[in-house]
Amino acid sequence: PKYVYDFTEGNKDLKDLLGGKGANLAEMTNLGLPVPPGFTITTDACRRFLADGALPPGLQEEIDTHLGALEGRMGRRLGQADDPLLVSVRSGAKFSMPGMMETVLNIGLNDESVHGLAKQAGGNERFAWDSYRRLIQMFGKTVQGIDGELFDEAFEELKNGRGDLDLDAAELRGLVETFKGIVRDRTGRDFPADPREQLRMAIMAVFESWNAPRAILYRRQERIPADLGTAVNVCTMVFGNCGMDSGTGVAFTRDPGTGHQGVYGDYLQNAQGEDVVAGIRNTMSLQDLEGIDKNSYAELMRIMEKLENHYRDLCDIEFTIENGKLWMLQTRVGKRTAGAAFRIAVQLVDQGLIDLDEALGRVTGDQLAQLMFPRFAADETRERVAKGMNASPGAAVGKAVFSSERAVELAAKGEDVILVRRETNPDDLSGMIAARGILTSRGGKTSHAAVVARGMGKTCVCGAEELEVSVKERRFTAPGGVEVAEGDVISIDGSTGEVFLGEVPVVASPVVEYFEGTHGDAGDELVRAVHRVMTHADSVRRLAVRANADNAEDAARARRFGGQGIGLCRTEHMFLGERRQLVEDLVLAESDDERERALAALEPLQKSDFIEIFQAMDGLPVTIRLIDPPLHEFLPDYTELSVKVALAGDRAEEKDRRLLAAVKRLHEQNPMLGLRGVRLGLVIPGLFAMQVRAIAEAAEEVPGARAEIMIPLVGAVQELEHVKDEATKILAEVGVEALVGTMIEVPRAALTAGQIAEAAEFFSFGTNDLTQMTWGFSRDDVEAAFFSRYLDLGVFGVSPFETLDRDGVGRLVRLAAEEGRRTRPDLKLGICGEHGGDPESIHFCHEAGLDYVSCSPFRIPVARLEAGRAAL
Ligand code: ADP
Ligand code: MG
Ligand code: MG
Repeated sequence: PKYVYDFTEGNKDLKDLLGGKGANLAEMTNLGLPVPPGFTITTDACRRFLADGALPPGLQEEIDTHLGALEGRMGRRLGQADDPLLVSVRSGAKFSMPGMMETVLNIGLNDESVHGLAKQAGGNERFAWDSYRRLIQMFGKTVQGIDGELFDEAFEELKNGRGDLDLDAAELRGLVETFKGIVRDRTGRDFPADPREQLRMAIMAVFESWNAPRAILYRRQERIPADLGTAVNVCTMVFGNCGMDSGTGVAFTRDPGTGHQGVYGDYLQNAQGEDVVAGIRNTMSLQDLEGIDKNSYAELMRIMEKLENHYRDLCDIEFTIENGKLWMLQTRVGKRTAGAAFRIAVQLVDQGLIDLDEALGRVTGDQLAQLMFPRFAADETRERVAKGMNASPGAAVGKAVFSSERAVELAAKGEDVILVRRETNPDDLSGMIAARGILTSRGGKTSHAAVVARGMGKTCVCGAEELEVSVKERRFTAPGGVEVAEGDVISIDGSTGEVFLGEVPVVASPVVEYFEGTHGDAGDELVRAVHRVMTHADSVRRLAVRANADNAEDAARARRFGGQGIGLCRTEHMFLGERRQLVEDLVLAESDDERERALAALEPLQKSDFIEIFQAMDGLPVTIRLIDPPLHEFLPDYTELSVKVALAGDRAEEKDRRLLAAVKRLHEQNPMLGLRGVRLGLVIPGLFAMQVRAIAEAAEEVPGARAEIMIPLVGAVQELEHVKDEATKILAEVGVEALVGTMIEVPRAALTAGQIAEAAEFFSFGTNDLTQMTWGFSRDDVEAAFFSRYLDLGVFGVSPFETLDRDGVGRLVRLAAEEGRRTRPDLKLGICGEHGGDPESIHFCHEAGLDYVSCSPFRIPVARLEAGRAAL
């Protein structure tokens, strides 16, 4: 196989093979943009390397060939003593993992070539030694695994309070000696002087960085598959650290926080690589660059426009200016906040760059869900202590913590925390995941904290420079003598950048108000964008969206949010509260007479509930599930009641004694597999009949009501037949029509769906129970007990209760859908488990040919959007 591609050979569609960085470097090269020449080693080579523990055969030769060609083209050899070619070795996976893996700059420098470099730069000794110390520092840390703090401390000591630019050539030369000493000390050998050996070691280190702990953690968080591997880019060095007419920067073609068009970015003079995001000095804005280097600025603007038109999307870029010459070092379609995703998609439609289908494809249900989060109330009494940058939106409240470890520790105890740092680095990842929000006092919108938080959809305020953060003392101070210590509650607003003391109350988001129909400002850009995208989603989707709702209020919200019916109306809540007494009477009934009296008392209450729901749904279908849980759930707790009866001794009330006996009789070791669902209907005479009658009579009273009666927990057609016969009779008596169908939630029901469809007029997949019974996992217990271990081991990438397990549970669903429809071609199919609101599962339901998904009312917009995306 071919393992190495020159930048001129690749293109942006080869991300699998070349990684995102390599594919886009190739794309920019082919667009004729100024990219320093280089080549990319494929992810394929990385996977082979990780599997075998050695470079795959032939790779070294291929690298040599490409390096030879590069050397020929540049007219200098790698590390050539009098005139060195230097390269960077850069990781780059298919999906961007900012800062997670390794990059080494200035490969090729050693005690000889450092002089050659100075000569190249017109005798700029300072620059050459600065580059050399950077090489040893990066190489030592990332390739040789030396603790980076050792270098940092030596550097700080030398600076002694001065800035990095204050060091002169001699001091940097001394620093190189110190760094070489650290390497010798830690590795027992000299820093490798041979440029080719440096290159080889760096390439292997980048391969290995794929499995660094923080990379693994990041992938799990972002659900990036673990087996992709990273590509390695070998790129000719260009230098931003050779004087004040040089520098390095990052930029976005639009504001990644709001989507607004324009030019956003940071630039740092006389600096290299990560300096601009690491916060070593204060950066300037791109606008300021215009003032100091008009030509480079103008070219940058031209290139950014070209990139945006070419990618037809927001791009972020890395660039370097070397003695007034602009070089492009990276671009990619940039991460953005949820709000910006909607705004940008619609802006691009308006600009004629994409159509509505593509716009719909570019936003996700998760993003929409984020926009539905509440925000802080504009409360006058709230106490603002600082304002930083609005790096990633949302309203987060929690206790301030100052280290990643503390964040993880407190979050594990169920506490809400805000991680406060001067700036974050990749080692803070676990703390960022654990925290509700992130606050930093340094760094801009392109800083590590901002980029990672946006990627995770986590609230972040960055660069709140008024704050003095002391990690050591676990506190920060704000202007006016305000002090916040670890454990004090603060509130941060990622949409405005504000930081408040204490807990600020939250209010609904404008997007929720839009769905509720209470949003006043139809001109709000975000609301307009959401409206356009939702309208399009509704016009292309095939799946209908219903709600799980069992009271009039939820039913009404479901309709406002665009629900097209109720897919699951549970009747058990109608047995709670004051009605518990009636259920007790039912259970305690000793004669038919007593039982009928108890049922007769329940019926009018049920009927009035159904009337309300039918009215709220105004002619849309309502699927009502007959009572499902075991009856003892409605009775007092066994232990408590035993104690009560025992304490009362002879004076115990007769009723309590009978109740205790009933509780004992109904007690089950394994209630979820016990007397529940259809089994109750078959065992307790008159129970289901009462419910059916209440439904029928309610339907009769509400004009246009469309009832669908659903029998839970059926495993055999015979069970359903008994209940259905009874139900049909009652419906005929009352004189209303209603569909009678069943849940498919027991594996046997799925396996015999062809038979069950003889009796069922619809199926609704109850995928919570179906998942529980297919895997044999108790859904109430196992998640806490061992799912995290299973996730670590990769048994599954995400809990099967969260996202439908396509291979197992999904197979049962497909089978039941197919065989059911073979028996009854017009069989209506829906899903009413939690999966009905999960994006990935909704796509599955679309593919499996279901007619609708049903989810909680709040989730309906997400389901509508994803159903639309599934149909693209
Ligand atoms: P990351 O994926 O973490 O952004 P990069 O591979 O992009 O890592 O490199 C880290 C930094 O070094 C970036 O700022 C990048 O622009 C800079 N850099 C990488 N290669 C070169 C090069 N050949 N010349 C100059 N700067 C470079
Ligand atoms: Mg980069
Ligand atoms: Mg169930």
